[in-house]
Amino acid sequence: MKILVINAGSSSLKYQLIDMDTEAVLAKGLCERIGIEGSNLQHTNVAKDEKTKIEKPMKDHGDAIQMVIDALVDKEIGVIGSMDEIGAVGHRVVHGAEEFADSCMITEAVMKALEKCTPLAPLHNPPNIIGIEACKKIMPNVPMVGVFDTAFHQTMPAKAFMYALPYECYDKDRIRKYGFHGTSHKYVSKKAAEVLGKDASELKIVTCHLGNGSSISAVDGGKCVDTSMGFTPLDGVPMGTRTGSMDPAVVTYLINQKGMSAKEVDSLMNKESGVAGVSGVSSDFRDLTAASKEGNERAQLALDMFTYQVKKYIGSYAAAMGGIDAVVFTAGVGENDAATRAAIVSGLDFMGIKIDADKNSVRGTVDISADDAKVKTLVIPTNEELMIAIDTKSLVEG
Ligand code: ADP
Repeated sequence: MKILVINAGSSSLKYQLIDMDTEAVLAKGLCERIGIEGSNLQHTNVAKDEKTKIEKPMKDHGDAIQMVIDALVDKEIGVIGSMDEIGAVGHRVVHGAEEFADSCMITEAVMKALEKCTPLAPLHNPPNIIGIEACKKIMPNVPMVGVFDTAFHQTMPAKAFMYALPYECYDKDRIRKYGFHGTSHKYVSKKAAEVLGKDASELKIVTCHLGNGSSISAVDGGKCVDTSMGFTPLDGVPMGTRTGSMDPAVVTYLINQKGMSAKEVDSLMNKESGVAGVSGVSSDFRDLTAASKEGNERAQLALDMFTYQVKKYIGSYAAAMGGIDAVVFTAGVGENDAATRAAIVSGLDFMGIKIDADKNSVRGTVDISADDAKVKTLVIPTNEELMIAIDTKSLVEG
């Protein structure tokens, strides 16, 4: 079965067509500037390693999906003979709230429930919904599946997801920890079990998704029991431009004492903070490392703050699970930045975590643990699109 994976943003739409018999990506691409002047489609025929850029107005997501289908079936740049070869579509949806504890087939009832989740993700869910609607119009008979960033974290117990606000805040307004990057945490924790030759049910794993946005999860017996992002993706470790956790009273201080508006504080915490805000250099870890090597102390401070917080999460999640069998690193920083991985696990030998410097310099899916380490440390490239396709296939095949 061939599955089309769609990740629709407000003015962009990413796609991959995956052949599930081999799990090979046949084609992938991106529509940019949907509804804005200069819209274009960048399409890659993976087998031929051929990239094509088509500039054409796309007034909405419907136009974008139609262009994607046209590219996929095109005689020159396409990879399938006709649209009928697409067995199902898997849609990434950011927020499934408490309505969705797993991926699910998209029905009318599901669309209604999705609308209900929108206030919790006002920027992300509406384009996801528009993407689904557009696909349904163009491919009315193709089964569609929704895969949620929050779903994997729905197994967290109340003691982990509740905030100590008055209970009504949860009861009435559903203010609680949801967690994000769930599809990635699910994929790498499953893959870790495969790499270790064990059943996920036997393992206590801390998964570290470290990218532009970062989150850490505690996965006990294949189920998420805690995660570092919260009600929004702002919580947890410092990120590219997001603060991560801090005393929430800073927010009221900035508003009451510094005269900032709520909107300004929101922008400060999401777009001007994190390692970029501390260093004044960049949100990109490559730039920070280069600046620190040249003696930039604030760049080094930003890196130290990041690695210190990730280290603390690993320790606290080992405590929460009553043990730890593996630490997994994934995403842009986790997969590529050996020095940051080494800094995170340094000093954790006391709990059995120790890496081998040579193994740590290898790329790809690797076990970087030292031979005498009691806890395995793995690097596993994440693949959220494949996870979406796997869930889609399994639901469509019943
Ligand atoms: P996103 O959260 O946007 O999906 P990614 O997982 O793609 O982010 O991670 C992007 C980040 O990964 C970049 O900002 C950069 O800091 C980091 N990164 C990518 N390659 C490297 C590298 N070779 N060394 C250090 N950091 C890297």
